[in-house]
This record gives sequence, structure tokens and C-alpha cells, in this order.
Amino acid sequence: MGRAFVYVILGGGVAAGYAALEFTRKGVSPGELCIISEEPVAPYERPALSKGFLLPESPARLPSFHTCVGANEERLTPKWYKEHGIELVLGTRVKSVDVRRKKLLTATGETISYKILLIATGARALKLEEFGVDGSEAENVCYLRDLADANGLVNVMQSCSSGNAVVIGGGYIGMECAASLAINKINVTLVFPEVHCMARLFTPKIANYYEEYYQSKGVKFVKGTVLTSFEFDSSGKVTAVNLRDGSQLPADLVVVGIGIRPNTSLFEGQLTLEKGGIKVNGKMQTSNDSVYAVGDVAAFPVKLFGETRRLEHVDSARKSAKHAVAAIMEPKKSGEFDYLPFFYSRVFGLSWQFYGDNVGEAVHFGDYLSGTFGAYWISKGHLVGSFLEGGTKEEYEAIAKATSLKPPVEDLAELGQQGLNFALTISKKPQPALPIEVSHSTSGLVLEKPMYAWYAAAGVVLAASIAGFAYWYGRRRRRW
Ligand code: FAD
Repeated sequence: MGRAFVYVILGGGVAAGYAALEFTRKGVSPGELCIISEEPVAPYERPALSKGFLLPESPARLPSFHTCVGANEERLTPKWYKEHGIELVLGTRVKSVDVRRKKLLTATGETISYKILLIATGARALKLEEFGVDGSEAENVCYLRDLADANGLVNVMQSCSSGNAVVIGGGYIGMECAASLAINKINVTLVFPEVHCMARLFTPKIANYYEEYYQSKGVKFVKGTVLTSFEFDSSGKVTAVNLRDGSQLPADLVVVGIGIRPNTSLFEGQLTLEKGGIKVNGKMQTSNDSVYAVGDVAAFPVKLFGETRRLEHVDSARKSAKHAVAAIMEPKKSGEFDYLPFFYSRVFGLSWQFYGDNVGEAVHFGDYLSGTFGAYWISKGHLVGSFLEGGTKEEYEAIAKATSLKPPVEDLAELGQQGLNFALTISKKPQPALPIEVSHSTSGLVLEKPMYAWYAAAGVVLAASIAGFAYWYGRRRRRW
């Protein structure tokens, strides 16, 4: 028994939703495209799960956050897929893939064949057991990667109102969950081994601002140590966590956010892997011509850094998916993926954006008291990364544009003095005819290559206004 499709998307997350929309825009015919996903629902904006989904009042629920609302595009409900003749095979795990024969085998025993496969399997949350700690199965130990996890977390959260939560991990899942739990009036302690939160991105100075802000909301920090074991009651519920420093914290709820691992196992030994992901070229094509990979699972060449990277952020999932579909459907027209890494987070009333790379020397700027501050990263005499908290849409666009231009910087003290004005000035300077993709923005839109300088200028203005609208719209809702 089997079915055959021209295009199959394996995975039904963020990248799958954006790829589906792009397939329809590029003229896919009804019956040609199939999406197979282990999740029982159509693709949705995963970032909503740690933000709007956990709010105590008017929480976000499906269908409100199906893709592609996060980039202010159409909301693709199950009805939309039906109307476009796209087969959604939900609640179905693919258990093996034979890329030579172009066939997949599902856990239900069905064989599905394809001409072109788009891998969008994302990543899974790392489990405590992988670090030698047992207890993940306890009903009040929660992870947060998919809708089932989020529903589980909401249930436990509701049953422990005013109780104690311990959040393990100081990355963005830990930080966003800690904020949401505090908003739900739960006593939160955040535990992580590093010296400060968001250690992979924040400088000590930036981290200090957020830690103090969290503390003002009642969140406690236990740093420089790790969880070693749990205490359980007779029903198997966790009652406390034991830390390596010898201390014990009471716990009605534990949230674990200790990192993710890309879902590559189906392709090991069949496709080239790199940086923990599936290696692709600038068209998102893997080592097999008929197979493309996008989103968290893909390791792609980032032109700006001159090296292959695997990113774990929603903007990269959206744009890499669109780029792969363009490369599949219009191979002659599509160029190499030229992407400026971008990620963001929103907690409490705070909101930050980061563009580029945080290597080299960090130069801080801005006013921490007013809540608008940031940092530039300078490597080999050029600006390579920018972070901004509390900016306006013009300011976020300016740091994005400035970072993509990699301007030379000679005097770091002067840069710190200029602060945001540096990016605002650089971004307003007329640029030589732009190569492509001026939309390193929150909009998720990519413009076609302009042929003349005039078109380039018009493109900048158009992209800026689209990005402006998108930013305003996104910020107004602030739910995913
Ligand atoms: P996913 O969205 O993870 O989708 C993968 C899909 O593949 C899933 O549906 C999965 O079930 C399916 N799948 C995997 N294996 C199989 C199989 N064998 N058979 C069938 N189906 C399979 N990024 C930001 O930039 N900013 C944020 O604020 C932010 N917040 C986040 C909050 C949360 C709670 C989470 C979990 C992530 C957040 N991210 C954020 C990261 C962002 O959501 C991811 O980068 C993005 O979802 C990656 O998209 P993807 O399509 O590659 O993978």
C-alpha cells in the first residue's frame, strides 16, 4: 500500500508551514504536495508556546497561531490545506527513509514516495537522562518543544497556583518559561551552571540587566550549579530538586530547558551531516539532489560569516523554507541563500532583537535606566553583530541594516558614544546598488534582485515599509 507525491515535506512545524505557502505561490498543483508530521495539528508558530500560550488571561490557542501569522502572512488552517489540495498526514511518525529509492515508511506502515523531499524535522528537547539524571517521566516535570508539552505545562501550572517552580536552564526557553510562570503568580527559581543567564548571547552587563529585572518580578537565580537528582513522593511526583552545590529546592513544578538536538537520525549514513545538522548548499539542497533540508535541522552556508552554521531560530526556519521552495520550483531564477541571522525574545514587557554574530569585542551603548540599550560586536575591525532592547521599529531596522553591511569600525570608544546613532547613520547612507534581499527584517519577506540602482532604492523603501508594518503589527500582538 502506498501513495506517491511530487513533493513531500517531512515534518510539520514552522518551516513546513512557510514552505507550503511558498509552494502554492510558486504554482504547485492540487495533489502534488504532502506534509507528514508526528504532531496531530497543522503547522503552527512554535514561539507562541512559551509566550502567548502560557498567559493566565486570554491565552493564545489554535487555530489563532497557525503559520504563517508570525510573519503577518496568511493563517494556514487545515481548511486552507484542503482548499489547496495539500495532503496533511498528521499524527504520523516517519520511521525510515530510503533516499536512494525516494521512499518513506510511516509508523502506520504506509509507504510514501516522492520526487523531491524537503526535510523539516526540526529538533527535539534534550532530556535530563542524557545528563545522567532520572525523573523526566514524573507528571510535574515538563519540557517545552511542542503543543503536547505546552498543554502539559499549562495543566501542571494550573494545579500548583502560588506553588514553587524550578526552571532548569538559563537559555531562552528557561528565561521565557520563568517569566511566564512568574506572570502566573508561581514562585520561580531559575537554576543554571553558567555565571549568568543567556550565556551564549548576553554579555555579563546585558545579563545583569535582565537578571535584576526578573528579580524585581520575584524570580530567584541559583547560578553555577546543576541539578543532580529529584525527591519524589509516593505517587511519583517530584517534591524537590537536589543541586550539585548540596542545596535542595522545593518543587511543585519543574521545567527543563537544557537545549535541543536536531532530528537527523533518519538520514545518518545517507546524507552528509555537519554541525550536528544536515549539510545543505546555498539552495538548501543536501548531498542528495532530490533532497532539501530547512529550519533547525539544516546546516547552511551563512555568507556573512563565510562558514556553515546551524541556527535554531524561527526567522531562519521561515526564510530557509521559502528559499528552498523557490530553488525547487524555479531553479534558474533562485540564487544562493543570503541570510542575516536574526533572533528575538519577548518576556514580561521586555523585547530584544539580535542580528549577526556575537564574536569579537562587545561595545555597549544606551541607557539601562530608560530601558533602551544594546551592544555591537566588532570582529577584525568590522561590525558583525548588534543587540538592542527596547528599540523602536526604525532602530531595529537600522541595526539590522548596519549589521548586514559589516561597516569598518576603528574607534570602539567612539562607537560606544555614538550608540544607536552609528547604526541609524550607516543605515541611511546611500548604498551602491544592493545585491539582493534588503529585507533582513522581521517581516520574513524577501524581494527579488533589483536590476538597477533605482529599483534597489525603491526596494529598500518598500522593504523598510513592509518591515515597519510587520514590526508594528507583530509588536502590537506580542504573542509569538
Ligand atoms: P519545528 O518547528 O520543530 O518542526 C519540526 C516538525 O517535524 C515537528 O512537527 C515534528 O513533530 C516533526 N517531526 C520530526 N521528526 C519527525 C518524524 N520522524 N516524522 C514525522 N514528523 C517529524 N525562535 C526565535 O527566534 N525566537 C523565539 O522567541 C523562539 N521561541 C521559541 C519558543 C519555544 C517554546 C520553542 C520550542 C522554540 C522557539 N523558537 C524561537 C525556535 C523556533 O520555534 C524554531 O527555530 C522553529 O520552530 C524551527 O522550525 P522547524 O520547522 O525547523 O522545526
